[in-house]
Amino acid sequence: MYDGSEAGEYAARLAETLPRVRDEIAAAAAGAGRTPESVRLLAVSKGHPLEAIRAALAAGLGELGENRVAELAGKVEAIGRESVRWHMIGHVQRRKVGGVLEVVDCVQSVDSMRLAERIDRLAAESGRTVEVLVQVNTSGEAAKGGFEADEAEDAVLAIAGFGNVRVEGLMTMAPFVDDERVLRGTFSGARRILEEVRRQSSEVGPQLSMGMSNDLRFAVEEGSTMVRIGTALFGARPGLAGGA
Ligand SMILES: *Cc1c(COP(=O)(O)O)cnc(C)c1O
Repeated sequence: MYDGSEAGEYAARLAETLPRVRDEIAAAAAGAGRTPESVRLLAVSKGHPLEAIRAALAAGLGELGENRVAELAGKVEAIGRESVRWHMIGHVQRRKVGGVLEVVDCVQSVDSMRLAERIDRLAAESGRTVEVLVQVNTSGEAAKGGFEADEAEDAVLAIAGFGNVRVEGLMTMAPFVDDERVLRGTFSGARRILEEVRRQSSEVGPQLSMGMSNDLRFAVEEGSTMVRIGTALFGARPGLAGGA
């Protein structure tokens, strides 16, 4: 399979990593009494070239995540939208919302009321409904984006009432630590918020986007329905362009 090209390199790597990641998801799901199909695998292609994306599509992955607007737009232009569901998973500046809405299927990183309002307004202007996840900060880390746990319920319920966004669920990011208690606490905190808002509103969907390369097991065991995996699939992000 490996033919020395960058495309061949990514194909060869995914042939190894994808089964491993799927096994890890399946094992964690089984441990929690769930099916592997209950967890979607979002491939995070940020920082990797188009060859990585083409290899991912060839390997059967159909959902991709990017965290920077310019990189996302360039990749969508090159790859198209027919065979991929594109997710924005990074912070969106308000002035870039229009550009993001033109290219994505889901904005996972709705982290403020003003951003939600702007998405709703622009969506209304173009006569569509935009799928979003509301980002919650249940890690307790000041540096993490998203609504704080104590304001999240009200925020999610308010956003769910907007006419041109559809809240499919929540997204959260755990801190970069190994401490199992901290990781589980972050994930279960998001799950509890989702359970509470879904008790109060039928407008909020069941998705919980949580779990990355190093913490996917705990995320799935705590109820994740979508893990966002970059490094464990594609390897370390090359160069500085990819960033964190
Ligand atoms: C980069 C990123 C990921 C993937 O991280 P890995 O550790 O490479 O799996 C997931 N979610 C978000 C929001 C990211 O920015």
